[in-house]
Parts: sequence; structure tokens; C-alpha cells
Amino acid sequence: MQNEFEPTEGEGEQTEAIDTVVMLPNDTTATDIADGCREAALTFINESKHWGKAELGMWLTGTYSALTQHGAKEPGQVWPVPLLRDIDARLIDRIMESARTEIFETLALISRDGSASFVLRALIAGAVIRCEDGQREPAWAPTGEPTRLAERVLSLFAVDYLARPGDYESELTICMQCETVAFDGMAKTRGCSHGMQHSALAPRRHSTMPYPPLGA
Ligand SMILES: [Zn+2]
Repeated sequence: MQNEFEPTEGEGEQTEAIDTVVMLPNDTTATDIADGCREAALTFINESKHWGKAELGMWLTGTYSALTQHGAKEPGQVWPVPLLRDIDARLIDRIMESARTEIFETLALISRDGSASFVLRALIAGAVIRCEDGQREPAWAPTGEPTRLAERVLSLFAVDYLARPGDYESELTICMQCETVAFDGMAKTRGCSHGMQHSALAPRRHSTMPYPPLGA
């Protein structure tokens, strides 16, 4: 019998999968990750209407990929971004636009009735993972698991929400007219002043990146 190479049932199985809580590096706190997630998510929602393939690619392979390193199943593995180069620019535009619409509608639900079911969905889908920081305090991190752009961005908002849900009640400001999302308690109280505020909220253009011609 050559069975000795096969693991005996019940043996060698319990060493794995016990207490596999992801530990953050000592100098990284839950707030650090939430800050990064909020900034990256706001960058997408507020600036991507001016983006082309190049900017989306940079966001995915740079900002987003870096944020998912802590929660990734295999740390160090860069999330495999599809070859954006080979995808029609108009399709990229449509994907970004529909992602923005979905994200606006999801965030608007929080403003309207406090529903943050997208956070639960992100957790169930494995888009967000619970971890612990150096002080063994609970923290949350995006995993990079989602395959849809909207879900990737929403996973970043979900991490931020889990770290400080109160901000979403008292500061989250959405203006469909300006197509902007901000955390601004003042604006939430007085309402968006649209054009007046627009220059302050206008995206900073990255002048080094040429914008690919539409429909190229
Ligand atoms: Zn506005």
C-alpha cells in the first residue's frame, strides 16, 4: 500500500485556517488605510470623467493596487489589470461612466435613508477583509477581489465607512448636478453651491499625461 503519502484524514488539516487574521504592519493603522481608501475613491468619482485609458490604468495599477496589498490573499501580487490598451476607448468611457452612476446611486442611498447595505455586500463578496493593526485593534482592508470597476471603488468606500461610519452620516455630500462627492459638514448643512464651489472642487489635472483622443 502506498497510502503513506496521502494525508490521513483529520491530520495536518487543522494547522492551517486557524486564526488567519491578516495583520497590518506595525506602523499602519486602520485610519491610515481608511484615509488612503477615501482619497482613492474620491479621486475616481470626482476626476474620472476627465480620464482616458491611461489615467484609469494608472489608478488601477498604482493607487488601487497599492491599497489592496494588505488585504490581498497573496501579498506582493499585483492585481492583474486587463490590457486596457487593447480595449476601445469608447468602451472604457462607458465602463467608467456606468461605474460612476452606480457609485453615486449607492452613496445617495446613505444620504437618503442611511442605508449602507453596500458595505455588507462588499464584506460578503470578499471585497473587504477584516484585519488587525499593530495594537491588535480591528481594521479593514480592500482585497482587490472584485472584478467590476464599480465594486472596486465601492470596496474602498466600504473600508472607509467601516473605520468611521459617522462621517457618512454627518459629512457625506453628494451633488448630482456637479457630479461630485465630498466629505464636508458645512456643505452638507447649507447644500451644494454648485458653480460657486465648482472651482474649489474641480479636479486637478495631471498635465504630464496626454489625454488619448476619444474614439481612437
Ligand atoms: Zn453642486
